[in-house]
Amino acid sequence: MMKIVKTIEEVRAQVKEWKSQGLTVGLVPTMGYLHEGHASLIDTSCRDNDRTVVSDFVNPMQFGPGEDLESYPRDMEHDAALAQEHGCDLIFHPDPDEMYHDGFSTFVDMTVLTEELCGLSRPVHFRGVCTVVSKLFNIVKPDRAYFGKKDAQQLAVIRHMVDDLNMDIEIVGCPIVRESDGLAKSSRNTYLDENERKAALVLSKSIFNGMELVRNGEKDCAVITDSMKKLIASEPLAKIDYVKLVDMKTMQQIEKLDRPALCAIAVYIGKTRLIDNFFTEDV
Ligand code: AMP
Repeated sequence: MMKIVKTIEEVRAQVKEWKSQGLTVGLVPTMGYLHEGHASLIDTSCRDNDRTVVSDFVNPMQFGPGEDLESYPRDMEHDAALAQEHGCDLIFHPDPDEMYHDGFSTFVDMTVLTEELCGLSRPVHFRGVCTVVSKLFNIVKPDRAYFGKKDAQQLAVIRHMVDDLNMDIEIVGCPIVRESDGLAKSSRNTYLDENERKAALVLSKSIFNGMELVRNGEKDCAVITDSMKKLIASEPLAKIDYVKLVDMKTMQQIEKLDRPALCAIAVYIGKTRLIDNFFTEDV
């Protein structure tokens, strides 16, 4: 039977009991409002581990001023049902006070990888992500943790953090889950009205266009990104934040496709900022 707990103490007690029985533990960190993308992470964790913990926490620290912290969608009842259906054993759903007590003043901050792509338009974002994920790792002490390729820079940043700080946790990256028409699933898709939802298809269309160019052997990054930008610009409701090809590990921009790379885009559809991407090694 799946449990939902709100305190660090309860998580620790449960995980301690599992570990004393020799069971392995997978962690799926989320901000809730769970959909099939999250479900695929839970499925993979349940396949690899004896027990799976899902954290469900809208982390205030990773939102900048003027971002959507207050309006971010929340639905704990739905989350509990979906997580249970997919085999989750424990949901950790803390209040912000439980995670950030008075006087909280320690941060995990990363340079280089966080200075490109989303880090440029969201300067405090990855400090919040690294700090909360470090805390979750210390609280749950999982054997493995699962992250979606949907947030490709986040996945690279977490892998790098685990390596830099010698965290003894295996990081598993999981494929992007899409709607049947191609749009990458996201909790933020709920912000889109009917017209915006249609317009949002330019993201996946441009990603598929970029993938095709790579498949056909194009090596000039500017040719690929220009073609993708042109496609996005044809949609009046879309405004490009970035369309870039970067080294898969360092997140630094490249000009020639001579190494494993990430092609990542961020596009505003009306007021909603959406992201999508592909790794060249998956093409
Ligand atoms: P979030 O709740 O948006 O912070 O996402 C929690 C985790 O689910 C992150 O590792 C995301 O990359 C992953 N995720 C979100 N959407 C998708 C998707 N469409 N496909 C695969 N993974 C996803």
